Parts: sequence; structure tokens; C-alpha cells
Amino acid sequence: MASDFGNRYAEGWPGERLYAGCAHIDEVEFICMDLAKKIYRAGFADVRPISGVVANLAIYSAFTDPGDVMMAASIPAGGHISHGRKEKFGTAGLVHGLNVEFYPFDTQELAIDVDKTKARVLELEKAGRPLKLAMFGGSLFLFPHPVRELSDFMKEHGMHVNYDAAHVAGLIAGGRFQDPLREGTDTITMSTHKTLFGPQGGLVLGSEKHAEQIKKAVFPGLTSSHHIHLVAAKAVAFAEVLEFGRDYARQVIRNARAFAGALNEMGFQVLGESRGFTESHQIAVNVLEFADGGRVEEDLERAGIIVNRQLIPGDIKAGRNYLQPGGIRIGVSEITRLGMGESEMRELASFIRRVIIDKKRPEEVRSDIELFRKAYQKVRFCFDDSLGAYEYVKLR
Ligand SMILES: *Cc1c(COP(=O)(O)O)cnc(C)c1O
Repeated sequence: MASDFGNRYAEGWPGERLYAGCAHIDEVEFICMDLAKKIYRAGFADVRPISGVVANLAIYSAFTDPGDVMMAASIPAGGHISHGRKEKFGTAGLVHGLNVEFYPFDTQELAIDVDKTKARVLELEKAGRPLKLAMFGGSLFLFPHPVRELSDFMKEHGMHVNYDAAHVAGLIAGGRFQDPLREGTDTITMSTHKTLFGPQGGLVLGSEKHAEQIKKAVFPGLTSSHHIHLVAAKAVAFAEVLEFGRDYARQVIRNARAFAGALNEMGFQVLGESRGFTESHQIAVNVLEFADGGRVEEDLERAGIIVNRQLIPGDIKAGRNYLQPGGIRIGVSEITRLGMGESEMRELASFIRRVIIDKKRPEEVRSDIELFRKAYQKVRFCFDDSLGAYEYVKLR
């Protein structure tokens, strides 16, 4: 990313720029778009959104007007703040003026309830509040969403259907999660830096049918220059995904399952047990038996393990909030990139047990973790791993 592109400007669509001097940028951007389309088998890709939130805003702007109603997952059901209501400062409500209705959610199965969702859509229609947009995807995303079951219904009822793949983009690319475009979504939005291991950025995918609306929403709507160096870095990441994405996604999911199973055996209440805990890179744990999620996050950080506190189903009803929620969320995407496998997951689970269940001093566990961690200093699933994971190219 530290290239001349970092200091350049481009506006508009490659080949139709509003600036001179974009010949090389155009070439890179076309390559980037082609790679994205190939990975996701999409007819159209816009690689310019500078983040996942901006990608979502592009969809809101292209397919809805302020005041329209959107259906999305609530935060305890896994939704993201960019799908959220105005009262909570969620992007959809605050920035684009959408009214947000939440999917009915089955807290046992950790799944969107398909029948209740259909009933709710009809009810809203009757009440004169027809939905304009259905948003799938989320930030706590253990199991695929019922896209195949709901997309046709949503479209028949006048909705544009978008799938926010910010978290699971790399798993979809590796063929290990659901395939939203084949299951019926119109468009996909994502971040390019979660399980898709690129630079921080965003991406919108869809078919030619929606191209013009999306292009205009992204520019001039939501970007001026679109951070050209990120486009170049996205292209490299996409090429790596095509080469290594399948192996990576397979290992990520194996690791998440192994980690979840180990935690569960040690006495943690891992969510989704009846469904095998997870089908993604994430694990969610109800920690209320030991402390609240905020406290667990803090203690683990002192031990050198970064997880995050997580609202889980039931929290809001019980009066818990984001600061002290009932759960934590663990992701294995980065540690998998560092070459860790299932046995390492079990070891990591035991470090967590020592801090949270055995109540060992976090500082004491930290020194063991530092020792353990020394063996994982290379990035895997990439073209060139000669540079260590924590070494950086010196420019001068
Ligand atoms: C992380 C996330 C985003 C936001 O992405 P940024 O690239 O950080 O703007 C959007 N949607 C979901 C579901 C996310 O998890």
C-alpha cells in the first residue's frame, strides 16, 4: 500500500475518470474488478467503496429513499451497527433515514425464523409500511442465513435483497459458507479485511442490472477519490484468495469448531451447541457463569488474548447492555493465517480457561502465551511469506 498510488487522485469509473493521469490506476482497477467478479461469480463489481459501511450506504442510497423500511438482524441476533436504527446511531437510520425492522429470531437455533419473517412482512405491508430492502448478514455470524428460503419471497414483495458479507467474505470466496448470489440475493456488500484478508476497504457485487445505480451511489454519492492504493492492495488480496482461499477457509472453519468444542468441554457455555457451535470463523460464548463479557474481555486482554464482548440473545430483555453483555465473540481468522491448527486451538482454549474459570492471574498466563506465540511469526496462505508477520518493509 505504500506506493505512489497512495498520493494520487481518481474520481469516477475507470475509463471514464474526471481526472487526467489515471491510465495506470485504470489498469489496476479493471484487474481488481475482474478478480472480484471471478471470485464471487458476479456480473458486476464496484471496488471503490472505502469500507464495509460505505458499501452498505451505497446499497441504501441506490435502492431506498429516506423514510423507507428495511429489515435487518438486531445486534443481539448478530446484526451490525451499520444496519441499525437512528436511536442507536446506526448508519441505516442515522445517515440514510431508514426505518429498521428486525428479523424475528429463534434464539435456540440462533437462526432467522423464516415463517415468522414472512408473517411480519405481510403484517407490515397491511399496516402500510411495506419493506424496500432486506439485509442479510451480520457481525455475529455463526451459521448461514436463510437466503434461499426468503429471497424470492422478499423480491415478490418489492424488496431489494442485499447480503452483507463483511465477516464471511473469505469463507464464501473459499466455497465454505453459503453462496448468496446463487441463493437469490441481488447484491453483496463486504469489508475486504476480515476473513477476506485484504486491506481495510469495501466492495459491492451484483449483476449488470444494478450496475448504474450502484456506480452513481459510490461516485459521486459516497466517495470523491476512492483511496487508489487500497484498490491495488485489494487486487493482490483477491489474487491470493483465488490461489489459497479454499485451503484457508477450510482450515478456518476446522479451527473454529475445534476451539468451540474445546471451550465447551472445559465448562464454557458455547452458543449453538445443537448445531455444532459454528459454521464460520467465529465462536460465541455465554460467560455469565463467570463474569460479564466486558470483564472477560478485559481480563483476557491483560493475559494477551484479544476477544470482544458481545451482546447475545436474551441480553436486552435481561437489561444488559453493550458495556456488560452476556457474551464474548472469538474469531480465528488471524491465528489461522499464522499457521495455527486444531491442536493450537485446544491450547488457546486452555489459556482462556486458566484466566476465566481457574481465575489465575492474567499476567502469569500472559508469559506462557508469549512463549507459545513465538512459534507463529509467518503469514500463511499468501504468495510471499519471506517477510515475517510482524516485519515491515523499510522504505528508507
Ligand atoms: C465490520 C462490518 C461492517 C463494517 O465494515 P467496515 O469495513 O469496518 O466499515 C459492516 N457490516 C458488517 C456485518 C460488519 O461485520
